[in-house]
Amino acid sequence: MSKSYDVVVIGGGPGGYVAAIRAAQNGLKTACVDNWENRDGSHAFGGTCLNAGCIPSKAVLESSELYHRAGHEFSEHGIKLSKPELDLDAMLKRKAGIVKQFTGGIAQLFKANKVDGIAGTGKLLKGNKVEVTAHGGGKKETLEAKHVILATGSTPVELPFAKFDGKRIVDSWDALEFEQVPKRLGVIGAGVIGLELGSVWSRLGSEVTMIEAQDKFLFMADQQIAKDAQRQFKKQGLDIKLGAKLVEAKAGKNDVKVVYEDKSGKHEATFDKLLISVGRRPYTDGLFGDDVKVDTDDRGFVKVDKQNRTSVKNVWAVGDCAPGPMLAHKASEEGVVVADLIAGKTAEMSHECIPSIIYTAPEVAWVGKTEEELKAEKVPYKVGSFGFAANGRAQAMNQAAGMVKMLAHKDSDEVLGVHIVGPMASELIAEAVLAMEFRASAEDIQLTIHAHPALGEVIHEAALAVDGKALHG
Ligand code: FAD
Repeated sequence: MSKSYDVVVIGGGPGGYVAAIRAAQNGLKTACVDNWENRDGSHAFGGTCLNAGCIPSKAVLESSELYHRAGHEFSEHGIKLSKPELDLDAMLKRKAGIVKQFTGGIAQLFKANKVDGIAGTGKLLKGNKVEVTAHGGGKKETLEAKHVILATGSTPVELPFAKFDGKRIVDSWDALEFEQVPKRLGVIGAGVIGLELGSVWSRLGSEVTMIEAQDKFLFMADQQIAKDAQRQFKKQGLDIKLGAKLVEAKAGKNDVKVVYEDKSGKHEATFDKLLISVGRRPYTDGLFGDDVKVDTDDRGFVKVDKQNRTSVKNVWAVGDCAPGPMLAHKASEEGVVVADLIAGKTAEMSHECIPSIIYTAPEVAWVGKTEEELKAEKVPYKVGSFGFAANGRAQAMNQAAGMVKMLAHKDSDEVLGVHIVGPMASELIAEAVLAMEFRASAEDIQLTIHAHPALGEVIHEAALAVDGKALHG
């Protein structure tokens, strides 16, 4: 006899596992089916984010940053060290330990919230049934569900002429696991993932060349902030080639030979490893039975309405497999909203207040509109910016490069966008997100007391600068 549930979630990443927990908290009988497979063949909940994305990348970003600072900056603090020695194995073990702690934590959360966590592959059948093939193959069972939430995530885009081989031509997961520091690392795509992983290996000693097809660096970010960041990454030794397209890649036994093309013609380069980070595509392979027709768009995203309903009644989609930014916090928030809607509650999320972050050094973070977008949309705006150089805390930290830029409506003063390049931008952006969520004005932030000395004072000063009233600039 098939088991029946109020909600079956397919996918156990930040979209799916959070949806499952919230659904169970809402008193709904819930199962979460997930098929993540670790390199050793074991299963773990948490999806890309916990196993091969957000968490492991931040762990090695932190370790590599400390290594780099110990070698290049500690002496400025009056700390003398003989040359720091890299123990890459220990660094990667620490990362693996953090991943294990968090993925194991989800299994515990499922237990505590009475979610049935099932390791297996789910296939949506007609009538909202889910066929589950148990992890490891073989055994099949069918679950019946009043509601199904699709949260199957995304997978790296592979270039047909530069297929992943796991050794020389690699994806972001492989690039978190190199057993040795590659002497020459080529990175195709200078987006968020390419920049973060390029930074990691550059700090650990790789010569990093980034080949980016777009002419503009970080085309999706405010261009003033992007230019500032680009300058700083260049200083760190990242060789970022813009308007350059990879046209050929040949993996040999010991290296990868590539050809890329820019305005000046074709160029050759040789790397020890080549990371392809040209984006991710929604992953719905094998998800739909022959008798179900869930609409997808031309890029493969599951089509949803504003509240994440798909074209099939009582089937919902959240996270990377649905349109919108491919971010863990977007996935989780959609999961919460859908689980609440299924439970008959009122729920919505503000898509215009989703922060974006690049965890480089300095970090880059933003929320809301860029200056370029406001110009294009002909929205009248005021702008205030303030540098970290005049901030006591940033100087004390020896991390005073960068700035905060705030955009507010010219007439209403409502904050429309905040853009940061600088220390702890990932944490600082939370104030801007909250302000925008509450539809605060620049004046509201001006009138908010910010502790001294703290990095947040730069946000305060940027808000003051919107009306030409910065105190220290
Ligand atoms: P996923 O996390 O991809 O989870 C989907 C799960 O569904 C997987 O476990 C998959 O195995 C499973 N699945 C797929 N098909 C089936 C099926 N048929 N049956 C059962 N299970 C199935 N985002 C951030 O917000 N911040 C960051 O710092 C950040 N850093 C990143 C760094 C890297 C290197 C990468 C690659 C990504 C990063 N991301 C980051 C993006 C983030 O990982 C994703 O946006 C997020 O994981 C999406 O969550 P999701 O639940 O939609 O999908």
